[in-house]
Amino acid sequence: MGQQDKGVPPNFYKGTSSSIATWLHKNSEDYAQAIKRITAYMNRAAGNLSDADTKRLEDAKVKLKKLYQREAAVKVQQWGRRNEYDVSFLKMLVHAIVDIVPGAKDIPLTVEFRERGLTAEGGHFLGKHEWDQLKDHHTIVLDKKQALKHIADTVAHEIGHAVQYRNKQLSRGPSPTGEHGWIWEGRWFPMTTELKHDDRPWEVDARRYEAYGAQALKVLQDQGLVPQSSGDKMQEQWKAKGLIPKNPVTMGDLDGLPDDQVMQIIKGLKGGTMTETEAWEIINAAK
Ligand SMILES: [Zn+2]
Repeated sequence: MGQQDKGVPPNFYKGTSSSIATWLHKNSEDYAQAIKRITAYMNRAAGNLSDADTKRLEDAKVKLKKLYQREAAVKVQQWGRRNEYDVSFLKMLVHAIVDIVPGAKDIPLTVEFRERGLTAEGGHFLGKHEWDQLKDHHTIVLDKKQALKHIADTVAHEIGHAVQYRNKQLSRGPSPTGEHGWIWEGRWFPMTTELKHDDRPWEVDARRYEAYGAQALKVLQDQGLVPQSSGDKMQEQWKAKGLIPKNPVTMGDLDGLPDDQVMQIIKGLKGGTMTETEAWEIINAAK
């Protein structure tokens, strides 16, 4: 790469170390290529770089290395069809959460977004965390069909559990009599504890972490990095085509109407044999 780096925006290398690192991380094939681009620029500009310029570009290299290290520690995957968000955005979200949760930075972690969260027993979960102690690796599995706000909360909550295990606040182990259970801050709880799931002290503690999810989401929103959901896009298209009425009939509007009229309206609206205006006429006449 002896020539000008044509891939970068104008005056790119005059930016801050963070902006240079972030952009190269996003737009390079790998760490080696990203570093090469900075180095090639520094070689070309050698005679014209002030000490401050050199320092800024060296800082960018350090930041770049950290970004790639973080990426190596945290893997994000998505499974199944009908993805509301693409994996590059989910990655950004998970990284943003890892960045602000105290103690989360160096956790070897995989976050999997799955079609739905089903347990072996046929139960349903929104998120769960597992720690493979032999491999020293944490895996978080999430139901990907949640509103974005809940995805962020759930990721942060489950990362909270990973931190609890790593801090040795929480562990699994037997009681003095050999019965299996959890140990939370030195106190032993049997697997068969009568405490409800949400009342267990490590769950109370994990809920504290959910605020970091909201905070990370806000950071991305403020930077304009949160994409529109497919539901939002569809609403917009419908509105543009005039398919969304100004005053749509909702179930609440049908409260107090006789059952046969409720059925007539629901069937009519769903089947397209009745307009919203006609439905409103029936509702208003009945009230
Ligand atoms: Zn939990």
